Amino acid sequence: MRLILAALLLLLAPAAALAQPSPAEQTMMRTVEAEHDRHIALLERMVNQNSGTLNLEGVRVVGDMVRAELEPLGFDVRWVDMAETGRAGHLVATHEGPGRNVLLIGHLDTVFEIDSPFQTFRRDGARATGPGIGDDKGGVVVIIAALRAMQAAGTLSEANVTVVLTGDEERVGSPVAVARRDLIAAGRAADFALEFENLAVDDGAEFGTVARRSSTNWTLTTTGRTGHSSGVFNDSLGYGAIYEIARILDGFRRELPEPNLTYNVGVIAGGTPASIDAEGFNVTASGKTNIVASTAIARGDLRTLTREQDARVRDRMLAIVDAHLPRTEAELVFAETGYPPMAPTEGNRALLARLNAVNRDLGLPEMAEYDPARRGAADSGFVAQDVDTLGGLGAAGGNAHADGEWVDLDSLVRQSQRAAVLISRLSLGGE
Ligand SMILES: [Zn+2]
Repeated sequence: MRLILAALLLLLAPAAALAQPSPAEQTMMRTVEAEHDRHIALLERMVNQNSGTLNLEGVRVVGDMVRAELEPLGFDVRWVDMAETGRAGHLVATHEGPGRNVLLIGHLDTVFEIDSPFQTFRRDGARATGPGIGDDKGGVVVIIAALRAMQAAGTLSEANVTVVLTGDEERVGSPVAVARRDLIAAGRAADFALEFENLAVDDGAEFGTVARRSSTNWTLTTTGRTGHSSGVFNDSLGYGAIYEIARILDGFRRELPEPNLTYNVGVIAGGTPASIDAEGFNVTASGKTNIVASTAIARGDLRTLTREQDARVRDRMLAIVDAHLPRTEAELVFAETGYPPMAPTEGNRALLARLNAVNRDLGLPEMAEYDPARRGAADSGFVAQDVDTLGGLGAAGGNAHADGEWVDLDSLVRQSQRAAVLISRLSLGGE
């Protein structure tokens, strides 16, 4: 085993002082290029199979497609059923070897449920559109292409790789402790984690994702005594629910601002009565100008860069809520199924430095850190507190979560080559 590993290290070592890919790395690059059409066809099949998060059967079928790719590479593939959380489940694949463990993270589900009009893959040259094509089926194809290239180059056999593809990234199941149990355990067991969501691109320049902000929804409900408007502000009626919710939201606006923090209010209603549907999207309210409002409801989100910031800001929000106007009550509830932040640690930055060494050797430009304020949360947030994590290793594209979502098919080649070399070097050592 050790001899083989040593031989592989030699294979991975740059051939000359001038940085360039080793022979094994050159094989990986050639394999990815040679299999480009194969992987476009695989992406097309995966995109044309609907896997909206709540289409449990569809998510399982996409999982089967991935299983059919990974088992021939020597992976032990498990399906972790998630009926308990109302979701399809997750694919967990392991390839044991003497190398260090590298965890690859992606997801099988999309935001496009079976009733969406956007269901099919369309290609126009190097650009292709389709539901979930970049988020995250392009990323899943990058993982597969990279592992196949490693297999062809002989670096996979000694590598220690775990793949976790969740089936509910877009709508995390509940309880979240169950929904993310397997991903968190894989993160704790890993030496490095790589997340294959969309590559960050701005003005043609590609960026590394060393941080992502959290995302948590909250619901604020206020109540007050109702009665004739002539009594508003007096001792017995007080201020009513709408003044109370206005006070709280204005307090958030004035008192909370700090770097890397946002909190949006997405919907609001108040009156006598007011209510919100179970999904939390539709509010209804009615009221008269001469009636003090009984109820008000607002829903919003909270995005933070670190767990410390997240906890501290939540406490501040709750303190603002608690300073009630006379004769009113208020309750702020944070959704249990939020995404934790992936803070910009030195370990994550060291992983980006390893990726930039790969970029240099492959003749690609170095990647700067992407501003976490400009991208959303992802499953990498669940592992990042336990293991050095690098994100954004999937396909380049745009319009994620919207009709017209697209990817640059050429980016699949670049990203798969980078990933194959990076995973090999992380697992087996080398520059
Ligand atoms: Zn995604």
